[in-house]
Amino acid sequence: MVDYLTNALWTDDEIAFRKEVQEFCAKEIAPIADELDKGPYPRELLSKIGKAGYMGVHHDKSVGGTERGLSYEIIVAEEISAVNAGLDMARMASTTLYGMPVARFGTAEQRKKYLEPVVAGDKIGCIGITEPDVGSDTAGMTTQAVKEGDDWILNGEKRFITNGSQADYMCAFAITDPGVKSKNGMSAFLIDTKTDGFSVVQDHDLLGMKSARVSWLKLEDVRVPGDMLLGKPGEGFRILMDELDSERTAIAGEAIGYGRTPYEIAVKYATERHQFGRPIRAFEGVSFKIADMAMKLEAGRALTLTAARMYDRGEKITKAAAIAKLYTTEAAIQITNDALQVLGGMGYTTDYPVQRFLRDARLMTIGGGTAEILRFLIQREVFKEFFPG
Ligand SMILES: Cc1cc2nc3c(=O)[nH]c(=O)nc-3n(C[C@H](O)[C@H](O)[C@H](O)COP(=O)(O)OP(=O)(O)OC[C@H]3O[C@@H](n4cnc5c(N)ncnc54)[C@H](O)[C@@H]3O)c2cc1C
Repeated sequence: MVDYLTNALWTDDEIAFRKEVQEFCAKEIAPIADELDKGPYPRELLSKIGKAGYMGVHHDKSVGGTERGLSYEIIVAEEISAVNAGLDMARMASTTLYGMPVARFGTAEQRKKYLEPVVAGDKIGCIGITEPDVGSDTAGMTTQAVKEGDDWILNGEKRFITNGSQADYMCAFAITDPGVKSKNGMSAFLIDTKTDGFSVVQDHDLLGMKSARVSWLKLEDVRVPGDMLLGKPGEGFRILMDELDSERTAIAGEAIGYGRTPYEIAVKYATERHQFGRPIRAFEGVSFKIADMAMKLEAGRALTLTAARMYDRGEKITKAAAIAKLYTTEAAIQITNDALQVLGGMGYTTDYPVQRFLRDARLMTIGGGTAEILRFLIQREVFKEFFPG
């Protein structure tokens, strides 16, 4: 299965690593992939993924990671998502969405206490940005944190938080200085979810990603010690923007996974299914769909690896990450939808997981920056390149 995934862009070590992750997924996840869709995923599974080293490929050795970089994280994301997308959404929310802000802006003590157990898979993290009245316009955030002695008191609501009801720790964003623009008045905090005042309003009932839990949370006078501020006061928006670049690249990796399995199923089905005395792949209406799927997967993988390589070299990837995420997530919706069409009526049954991948893929032009917002970002970066200053 691995052969057609290898090309000139990947190193030998990355190819070997992909094979290793595939073997893990085949043994530990594939046998329960459909069962997982009844959700939520068992905690021990995340722990197993952590013990196998797949929570920390892009984290430092000092916190138990392997320091291999984002190019390896997109391999893990693709491989796990190719088996069960919701499980990877939960894994990634913990290790990348929560993990990267802690890794890049946390103190050595914060990383030891709040990141190391997450990389090991023993604790679960989540990120709290979105609120009932604040989605794409993150700068309009209303959750407030007020200083009281050395502590901060947080009040507000966070909606659509992946892992929200399962997490041990949250990286939460809140306004600390309402007197200035939120780009300078927002801060990031680490919260222990067992703290008084932290509560789950409800888990959302979702169309897909059923193996994950996505929650609406309330923060009522949650007292956060001063040493759980992440970065400096007022640095929250910068931390948020930094996080989104790695998140979008990793989501692009996932999106290739959502598309890949339905594509593989469609290729086999088109060969085995006969109508009008021949395999349905003999009809261009079917085989050209397969061609489009293959093209989109290859192009998406190249775009995603480009963004990951740039990130690993320390380059700014706002545009590259937005392009990779936008392209792969729109492609994943088209591929899963076309694959379902190739399977005809069988595609609409739960005998095949194609419908599950279609439901899962549908999320990703929404979460982590909608397609509209990404187009806005890409054009903004393009015009900046042409007309700097
Ligand atoms: C399953 C799931 C998991 C999630 N996980 C997390 C998580 O872990 N942590 C977290 O903080 N958030 C999470 N989110 C929230 C997600 O990031 C937001 O849903 C997303 O950013 C969009 O916000 P919104 O849903 O409020 O839509 P809105 O911002 O209200 O947008 C509604 C529509 O208006 C469009 N629109 C808005 N502004 C513009 C504009 N300027 N130009 C053009 N069109 C525009 C949007 O593109 C969209 O089509 C999750 C969401 C879901 C559904």
